[in-house]
Amino acid sequence: METLYITHPACKLHEMGPGHPECPERLDAISDQLLSSGLLSYLKENQDFLPVDAQSLSRVHPEQYQTQLHGWSPDSGYHEIDGDTVMNPHTLHAASYAAGAVVSAVDAVMAKEATTAFCAVRPPGHHASREQAMGFCFYNNIAVAALHAIEKHGLTRVAIIDFDVHHGNGTEAIFAHDSRVLMCSFFQYPLFPDCGVHNPAPNMVNIPVPAYTSGAAVRQLVTEHWLPRLVEHQPELVLISAGFDAHREDDLAQMGLVEADYAWLTEQIVAVADQYAQGRVVSSLEGGYNLSALGRSVVTHIKALSKL
Ligand SMILES: [Zn+2]
Repeated sequence: METLYITHPACKLHEMGPGHPECPERLDAISDQLLSSGLLSYLKENQDFLPVDAQSLSRVHPEQYQTQLHGWSPDSGYHEIDGDTVMNPHTLHAASYAAGAVVSAVDAVMAKEATTAFCAVRPPGHHASREQAMGFCFYNNIAVAALHAIEKHGLTRVAIIDFDVHHGNGTEAIFAHDSRVLMCSFFQYPLFPDCGVHNPAPNMVNIPVPAYTSGAAVRQLVTEHWLPRLVEHQPELVLISAGFDAHREDDLAQMGLVEADYAWLTEQIVAVADQYAQGRVVSSLEGGYNLSALGRSVVTHIKALSKL
């Protein structure tokens, strides 16, 4: 069955100023590599979906937070929420499409229009909590997807895999103690946002690792800690917060993963989904800031999602 590739031109309109690593060119780097690898022709592409609907967004972010963000949205120039997280006039438009993409991807895999999906979207989401934007994130896309799957499609067990090099503190805060969701992650520590070392809840499988951890070490930790918990949870849908900034060429962190490690990780996740979730995987872009490494890693990731 096909893999769905979802992206939208609106996601390129959001930008946070000259030299900011979370830049629109990231999406160009991905589409360039998908084209040059020939992979794009094997995918079912969708750029024609709706921005996130009010109900889906409000399951994660309260009205008051949404109103605050709209109040901050500048007519021109920038509004700085913190040193890393900046709004331009198009930010909320882009964020609405980023969250809309994952909702649409969940609908597609639930309707068996595709088995797996990758959303090449920005802004990313996993640092955004219910009421706070931070770490380049405004709406928590993967949390919107998880609650949409649970509330709209009636699923009772969802897994969120977060392999971004930074801890997905926003997603953790939203789902801690929600036994419907199992969240598995590894992340470099110490590193932004400098938390998550101690599992705050039984449904969190956090693996903090030091700088310069190799791909081989990560594979071993994943085998020992994630996989048994995933088997126990038997997820009906697997969601991925797919950040590629643990790549050894990425300067925002100091980990040693390469494309082969992303292939291996994705294969493990797909195997779990095949066993329990009828193969259903929805992956959404988080970090990844070395443009070449990002494009190559996404190609590897999508190949593994598609079993090509
Ligand atoms: Zn990251």
